[in-house]
Amino acid sequence: MTDAATVRCDACPVLCRIREGKTGACDRYANVAGALTRIDPLVVTQRAARLVPFAGDAESWDGALVKGAETFVTGIGSGTTYPDYKPAPFIVASQADGIDMVTVVSEGIFSYCGVKVKIDTDRFVGPEQAPVRCGGEQIGHVTTAEYGSQMLSLGGVRHFTGGSKREGTATCQALLEMCNGAPVEVEIEGGATVTVQAGAAPVVDGEREGRMRVGCGSATIGMFAKQWFGHADEVVVVDDHITGVLSEHQAGRFLDMPPAGIRVRGRRSTPGRYFQVAEPGAGWGGTDVSDPLEIIEKIDPKTAWPGLKLLMVSTTGEDAAWYVLDEDLRPRAADMPAPVRDTVARIAENCEPALCSVLFMAGAGGSLRAGVTENPVRLTRSVKDAITRVTCGGAPVYVWPGGGITFVVDVTAMPARSFGYVPTPALVAPIEFTMRADDHAALGGHVDSIVPLDEVLARASLKATAWDETKPWPGAAPS
Ligand code: SF4
Repeated sequence: MTDAATVRCDACPVLCRIREGKTGACDRYANVAGALTRIDPLVVTQRAARLVPFAGDAESWDGALVKGAETFVTGIGSGTTYPDYKPAPFIVASQADGIDMVTVVSEGIFSYCGVKVKIDTDRFVGPEQAPVRCGGEQIGHVTTAEYGSQMLSLGGVRHFTGGSKREGTATCQALLEMCNGAPVEVEIEGGATVTVQAGAAPVVDGEREGRMRVGCGSATIGMFAKQWFGHADEVVVVDDHITGVLSEHQAGRFLDMPPAGIRVRGRRSTPGRYFQVAEPGAGWGGTDVSDPLEIIEKIDPKTAWPGLKLLMVSTTGEDAAWYVLDEDLRPRAADMPAPVRDTVARIAENCEPALCSVLFMAGAGGSLRAGVTENPVRLTRSVKDAITRVTCGGAPVYVWPGGGITFVVDVTAMPARSFGYVPTPALVAPIEFTMRADDHAALGGHVDSIVPLDEVLARASLKATAWDETKPWPGAAPS
């Protein structure tokens, strides 16, 4: 029930009753003088750089609409629809290169969503499958590591809905902050505390990561073998996954390097490539080793010789040591010659800056598809056939093959603070479907709800952002 001073918000299943001058539970809708109002501005993006060359950088733009600039209406601030059968909040008619286009614009409420986090570090953050917690609640787990990066899989419908209310709320809050570019500290069971911030360096147990490794130990051997040749008799590149040993490695064989008789610990995979030389950790090359000599199992007196020059180095070049074997074939630390120091610096030079990448992944569900067409499967087919383009806040997405419209988007490609939430709990994210007007009609689109772009732009509450010209223009006709 509502009275004159109260409005009911029907933009999500929570159905808040909002008193005059107040906002609903998600802080997105308010009762303004008795009218239900989406309080954030509708964000449009404009190709301003081309048209206003003196406008300066995007950050200095005050958000005022640039008249005459090519404009795309994003879902940010557009509002949500509930229940599902309503048309999307904006179905915008525009033109692209003389072609009549339609963009269906909405803020999706995503119960089925999560983030995949790529953390550029060799350091051990936790065992695969380990629970990842935020505020004491499990919000996801460690998943399979990638090349030079540790990976987390966070969110997902089970953490939103399948556990306690606290778990769902903590998951929603952590993902909201992460997707909006804020730093979020997570604790990994049996591992590290990691601060994740999209587009920023990861902080692992209080240490800000600087470099992403150049490659695994074997790859590092391959890349730099020629530069070591003639300066070192043996090089061991210490790596948690694949430690490389130059003279034994194919790269050393190609250079006709004689065997050096230095055998490292671990399981020999192929010549010069060793697995499991140590435990994972925060030491050399993502191992728990702080003294690299620990991984040397034996030095063969039949093969090695006094005076043998040995370089031990990590895959980032952050750790390196130079040894010369004494008369008893014991490695003695020595000053590293300048040409060898240069190769270590070259490894470091070839490392890219370590970053956290946050990819939002979600499935377009009932209200989103029904908001486009009365026959939702046609939208799915149209997306699969590349007749309809899906974007998030204008940012390009990757749509997974197979059933449904399950997509992935880099949150740093989206305008700032694109995400919201509702306390069901679920994340709210902008989504746009762009297609030719005749294709929209053919898939059973809500043609009666189409509004010309100029009419949308005439609305009072708009915020314009400068389009990033390195990305494909979201309003272009799908090819
Ligand atoms: S949570 Fe937000 S969208 Fe949902 S009913 Fe309340 S005010 Fe409306």
